[in-house]
Amino acid sequence: MDGMIDDDGPASTARAATPARAGEDAPPGGPVRWPELRFDNSYARLPEAFHTRLAAAPLPRPRTVAVSADAARLLGLAAQRAAEPEFAEVFAGNRVPEGAEPLAAVYAGHQFGVWAGRLGDGRALLLGEVAGPEGSWEIQLKGSGRTPYSRGADGRAVLRSSIREFLCSEAMAALGIPTTRALAIVASDLPVVRESVESAAVVTRLSPSFVRFGSFEHFYAAGDAAHLQQLADYVIARFYPELAREADPYLALLGEVLRRTASLVARWQAVGFCHGVMNTDNMSILGLTIDYGPFGFLDAFDAGHVCNHSDDSGRYSYAMQPRIAEWNCWCLAQALMPLVAARGHGPDDAKAVLTRWGAAFDAAHRAALRAKLGLAQAHPDDHALIEALFERLQADRIDFTLFFRRLSRVRAGAADAGHDAAGNTAVDGADDGAGPCRDLAIDRAALDAWLARYRRRLALEARGDAERAAAMDRVNPKYVLRNHLAEIAIRRAREGDDSEVARLLKVLQRPYDEQPGHEAYAALPPDWASGLQVSCSS
Ligand code: AMP
Ligand code: MG
Repeated sequence: MDGMIDDDGPASTARAATPARAGEDAPPGGPVRWPELRFDNSYARLPEAFHTRLAAAPLPRPRTVAVSADAARLLGLAAQRAAEPEFAEVFAGNRVPEGAEPLAAVYAGHQFGVWAGRLGDGRALLLGEVAGPEGSWEIQLKGSGRTPYSRGADGRAVLRSSIREFLCSEAMAALGIPTTRALAIVASDLPVVRESVESAAVVTRLSPSFVRFGSFEHFYAAGDAAHLQQLADYVIARFYPELAREADPYLALLGEVLRRTASLVARWQAVGFCHGVMNTDNMSILGLTIDYGPFGFLDAFDAGHVCNHSDDSGRYSYAMQPRIAEWNCWCLAQALMPLVAARGHGPDDAKAVLTRWGAAFDAAHRAALRAKLGLAQAHPDDHALIEALFERLQADRIDFTLFFRRLSRVRAGAADAGHDAAGNTAVDGADDGAGPCRDLAIDRAALDAWLARYRRRLALEARGDAERAAAMDRVNPKYVLRNHLAEIAIRRAREGDDSEVARLLKVLQRPYDEQPGHEAYAALPPDWASGLQVSCSS
């Protein structure tokens, strides 16, 4: 629990203060001087119990696969840096930018509902924190070699999962969903064994903080109240300063993290995002989406969809995500109890905070769904209308993203206008705009009944069709990172053609815009996509 290197610690290259090069490569250069990266490493200043300082294991012959210019801007990192040879060296972990103090953080967690004990950055290194133009960002290399927390695993990440994490981080940010960010992918021909032999890569992630629920659970399980308090005080001072003035800052922290987490998961549900591994070590203390592994976006709607092939029991299915997030908040509450008790409060006080979950999630979820349907005003039947729609989506396995995007074209109508045999045009000659939605249904009569009800409901809205459609298009994305899109980019990159990663990134950075010429990225998945499996193996 003390952050010391243990028996299954990193290979000797990873322990060295200055990383040695693998094989016959040229010797490493000194620190890279990038004056625009201004480091101030607050996490490194925390006591040794929080982390282990170590260097990355070198990655042979690194090449930059992709860079997010948006993420580079967050750091104030000049765009032309990506073209410099040092860029791949730094973000492979082979050279250290001046001012960085690489370390692996310790944490613990509940995995699939079971206490897993000590975990920690098993394949990630925090380089340090950089003051960007609009705030401070931790820079973390993921896949940079073994650490004391690797638990016998290889410390590496494969190109496949690095591309997926890179693209989804940036796609979620563009969707407006709180998330860690991704700066770059650097790849190597270093073989890495998973189900088959793949190749290694490092994805550089950015976050104001990578502290997790599991960071608190680590000190709680160790019975180390002093460091538990230091962690809580650090998080409050840096990220929740207004809570320091509360009578019990730790209960207040629990309440605020719960509120943010409820809002986050409501937004996942609204966009059809499945995280896949909602273990407490993958829950951000800032309410961000973190640790993209076997995630997926819903194609055909199925509330029971399980995106993680390793999740046999379906614990982390789409429909379970809110309940699991709530359960995780209970774990966080448990870990905070020594601090809460020291303030004279008890379990009932923590439970009183936890009971806010239902209202917090429901409010955020309902607001998100109302916006998806373009309902600006509240009417008593709205909840039933939304429930009835989800019954249709489920029964016909209607494509989630396409349906809501097309829904904005439906026009308000006082009565059911009917439609012709082709299903597209109203019998009275006026197009009800519902044809593209109907096209997605199997039981068209059933969907038509719902659409008629919806059109009558829209007629009660003060907003006109055009204004409502524009508002709906700002919350119902046209472009999401469907599994098959990621897969195509991965297959090309494995063949040495990285251009599809960049092209897809560009599309996903404007998810709500019509992008003429890019319709293929918004299309239904091809048949072969149904055979794609994503697992914890990354
Ligand atoms: P995850 O489920 O990917 O969030 O990982 C759970 C834990 O396993 C974390 O502590 C990771 O750092 C660690 N881990 C996952 N994959 C590896 C790997 N290839 N090498 C070392 N540690 C790993
Ligand atoms: Mg994790």
